[in-house]
Amino acid sequence: MSDTEFPAPAGRRSVFARMAQLCRATIGVVLDTALPPLCASCRAPLGNPGGLCPACWSRVSFIAPPYCERLGIPFAYDAGPGILSMEAIADPPSYGRARAAVRFDDVARDLVHRLKYGDRLDLATTMGRWMARAGRELLDDADALVPVPLHWRRLWGRRFNQAAALAGVVSAAGGGPEVLTGALGRMRATPQQVGLSRGERAVNVQGAFAVTPDGRAAIRGKRLVLVDDVLTSGATVDVCARTLLRAGARNVDVLVFARVVAAVPAPI
Ligand SMILES: [Zn+2]
Repeated sequence: MSDTEFPAPAGRRSVFARMAQLCRATIGVVLDTALPPLCASCRAPLGNPGGLCPACWSRVSFIAPPYCERLGIPFAYDAGPGILSMEAIADPPSYGRARAAVRFDDVARDLVHRLKYGDRLDLATTMGRWMARAGRELLDDADALVPVPLHWRRLWGRRFNQAAALAGVVSAAGGGPEVLTGALGRMRATPQQVGLSRGERAVNVQGAFAVTPDGRAAIRGKRLVLVDDVLTSGATVDVCARTLLRAGARNVDVLVFARVVAAVPAPI
């Protein structure tokens, strides 16, 4: 029952509103305590919180060296330190280094979707800890973290920004660099990137971000790590990094939970 459907005197309306709020809060507590946590991928009940059952956990493909020093794309074999991928040489990104905890496959997709749309904010703890481990060298060099922002209309519908939730855990697990949540603003809601080519994605996010007036002072001369949930073509983090660098950041690295890996390339 909403207030707009049943207009009531001001006093009664506020009592109804408070009762509704109390009911929602109570139901939330009961659900939280009565239901065992479920595996974020196969929905099996879990003995412990942590997000995944042992079978799904074993299917996660963590990204580990050897990989491209710049883009973090895994290599089929180790050709020595500092080796770059063909993509990094042919089309260098505006950011310095990118690292991802896992490949974007079935289990990673389930984790991201449940975090984003399924009210499973608890998954951010597991995902953020994996990210902190994958991005250790980036975090050691970082002054602050900047989550990729959502447009306010999406934030309204989803209630929280998954990138900011992940950044909070990454910070706690990675030595506590400051999280600059409001440094970067999303000026327009970009259409979903799904189904777009690499070039179309770059055009889609062009001019979509800006450093806020408060953010400008906060990022000046700082070494930043941009945080997001998924890296597909890299168009979003590339335009965010360029925006931060133009506004005075010293350098920008990128840390995501999952990245799309087409095929494992050989180093050149
Ligand atoms: Zn499972």
